[in-house]
Amino acid sequence: MLNSARFLKFALLPLLLTAGVAAPAPLRVMLLTGESNRYHDWTKSSPLVKTYLDQTGLFAVDVVTAPLKGVERSDFNPKFSDYAVIVMDYETMDWPAATKAAFVTYMKNGGGLVTIHAADNAFPHWPEFNEMIGVGGWGITPAGGVNARQPDAGVKLRWRDGHAVTDDSPGGYGHPAPHDFTVVTRTPDHPIMRGLPAAWLHAMDEIYSQLRGPAKNVTVLATALADKKQFPNASGEDEPMLMTIAYGQGRVFHTTFGHVGPQSKPPFRPLTCVGFIVTLQRGTEWAATGKVTQQVPADFPTAEKISTRN
Ligand SMILES: [Zn+2]
Repeated sequence: MLNSARFLKFALLPLLLTAGVAAPAPLRVMLLTGESNRYHDWTKSSPLVKTYLDQTGLFAVDVVTAPLKGVERSDFNPKFSDYAVIVMDYETMDWPAATKAAFVTYMKNGGGLVTIHAADNAFPHWPEFNEMIGVGGWGITPAGGVNARQPDAGVKLRWRDGHAVTDDSPGGYGHPAPHDFTVVTRTPDHPIMRGLPAAWLHAMDEIYSQLRGPAKNVTVLATALADKKQFPNASGEDEPMLMTIAYGQGRVFHTTFGHVGPQSKPPFRPLTCVGFIVTLQRGTEWAATGKVTQQVPADFPTAEKISTRN
């Protein structure tokens, strides 16, 4: 008896231990980067984005750097279907038709997409992409301008009287000068937002305002007031800052946070803000799986206190 019990113990223990500690396979993430408009700089933002995704321990991140010039005439067509989620820190004008078709198929079949800040400026004339992001802004022109999205590119998305509404009033695409501002949680029971404060301060960012698009199947997770009293050119509206969009079977997390310009110097406060980091990490997991397993860290900002990491 003793011998067989000992045998079992010693024979099975390593197996049990192995089974007990085996980590789930990491979620494969494509960090897609390589181009910005002239007001942004992916070479500064993407290394930080990769670091933040790596820090979760949940993801295996491949950085895919698209050709900077002439991607629309290239054979660029990364294998989207190898990935649980595509994180775009990337703004370009257009892609080859085959690449766009592959991306639409990937998303409709249940893919994941995260767009960071000016990634919602990308692909101004690609209707499916505009559906994926809900609303977008600006957009690179062939001459290097940033006004490719027309005033009729769709409706604006507003938070009024406790819920999201669309608005087809004239005007579009702007932001107050970068400043610290309060983010208000609007959908506290969404997996990305669960456990975050009702309001918190975000560091020195642009409040993207008056974005326009199809605005279909959008859940507004958080807003910020573009305050006319402080900034006369502001919209005066509670602008959507964090959104999710259902596209086919796919999931999109759209964060407007994360401005880094060519002249920006470290520390890049919008990107080192813990509110940016944590919502990016949680939004990426959610876009990949539909769930969030990450705890809210103790250094998350509050309504009174900015929190950044160096
Ligand atoms: Zn910006």
